[in-house]
Amino acid sequence: MNCLICVGAAQRILCDGPWEERDCPDCGRYRVSDDLILALMDQGQIFDIAKTRGWLDTRRVEGAVPSIEVHQALLVS
Ligand SMILES: [Zn+2]
Repeated sequence: MNCLICVGAAQRILCDGPWEERDCPDCGRYRVSDDLILALMDQGQIFDIAKTRGWLDTRRVEGAVPSIEVHQALLVS
């Protein structure tokens, strides 16, 4: 399974709910909503890796596994 952010090798974490969870050695553990994955595939867009990692770091301060929703995605423009 590949990381949804950097496309490196990552572990897929099985989870309930409308999202995919990954544990990437570089990006860390996070969830991405199914809606966002579909939107990315539809539009051929990719994450801005550096910005997304930075955003995940700020979210991890709160303790839970961060979850990226459509309106929060930091994409390469
Ligand atoms: Zn990654």
